[in-house]
Amino acid sequence: MDTRIFGTTEQDIMQAAEILKSGGLVAFPTETVYGLGANALDPEAVGKVYAAKGRPSDNPMIAHISSKDDMGLLTDGITADVEKLMEVFWPGPLTMVVPAKPVVPKVTTGGLDTVAVRMPSDPVAAAIISASGVPIAAPSANLSGRPSPTTGRHVIDDLDGRIDAIVIGSDCQVGIESTVIDMTSDQPMILRPGIITAQQLSQALGKEVTFDPALLQKPDTSAGSGLLEAGSDFRPKSPGMKYKHYAPKAEMIIFQGDRQNVAMAIAEEKMKRAQWEQKVEVIMYDEEHPEEAAKEFFAKLRACDKSGVDVILAAALKEDGIGFAVMNRMFKSAGYNIVNV
Ligand code: AMP
Ligand code: MG
Repeated sequence: MDTRIFGTTEQDIMQAAEILKSGGLVAFPTETVYGLGANALDPEAVGKVYAAKGRPSDNPMIAHISSKDDMGLLTDGITADVEKLMEVFWPGPLTMVVPAKPVVPKVTTGGLDTVAVRMPSDPVAAAIISASGVPIAAPSANLSGRPSPTTGRHVIDDLDGRIDAIVIGSDCQVGIESTVIDMTSDQPMILRPGIITAQQLSQALGKEVTFDPALLQKPDTSAGSGLLEAGSDFRPKSPGMKYKHYAPKAEMIIFQGDRQNVAMAIAEEKMKRAQWEQKVEVIMYDEEHPEEAAKEFFAKLRACDKSGVDVILAAALKEDGIGFAVMNRMFKSAGYNIVNV
């Protein structure tokens, strides 16, 4: 398939929207990561997304809208809490899981009777969704299992020849996927951590927000199949969280503990690996600015792949707030290969 490459002129956006309207696949930038879009209400179009990404079909899609009014197209479940979060965080990197209306195809929800909805703030994303006139299912625009794409180049590397078009816009400002929160009961629960933190959500709602217990576990991934071990008790509510994600080609080790000890342990390991003539990359982000880590992390993994790095030695961030969201990705990338120092 010939993949058309668009910029972000008005004409480009209209053409991209036309492709979406007629059931095609278009990748485009959002503030979180690049998304691979399809008409969320067209089962055939959504089916093509799973095929292009090589994505397991029980992993549901997020439906993206460009106006708060469109929430009512997808759900009857706009509670006072949902409304509050829409008011405070939309448009932005927050996805809400709500009961789905029958109009939402099962292929979009991975067979669930709930649907995940987000209203992105990126102006190019908003313009494309708005011009298409339908909600757009848009999982990250990468091959399944690879790091999420945060630049147009990343999307070309993964999906050129597999989809109808790619809209190249700015690099993503957030750099990790949206926070996903389950709003189907009175007790809001975070299913995937992101840049919008539990503390912010809880403050906006005036009530406690919990985490899916699976997020607090570090599962055994020794089966090595990409799918976590069937026998394990790791059962996240968000189907996508159970798959091995974001894996770089290199071996990756995370060093966790006091920063000084971590720095020393990494230096030692680096020396040892260099003696083995391995190409080593060290990732050590400023603990005080986890948002910078979020923005750069996936791009870093892809750069390591491209330059043939053998081993990545990474310093853990504090697991709270945005740091918790970054570490969620980092642990998965390393296949939970953690050294405590
Ligand atoms: P992605 O599209 O790659 O950003 O991934 C979407 C994430 O949202 C995955 O982790 C999905 O499992 C999760 N998700 C989407 N829809 C639902 C839903 N109805 N219930 C729970 N999690 C969902
Ligand atoms: Mg993804």
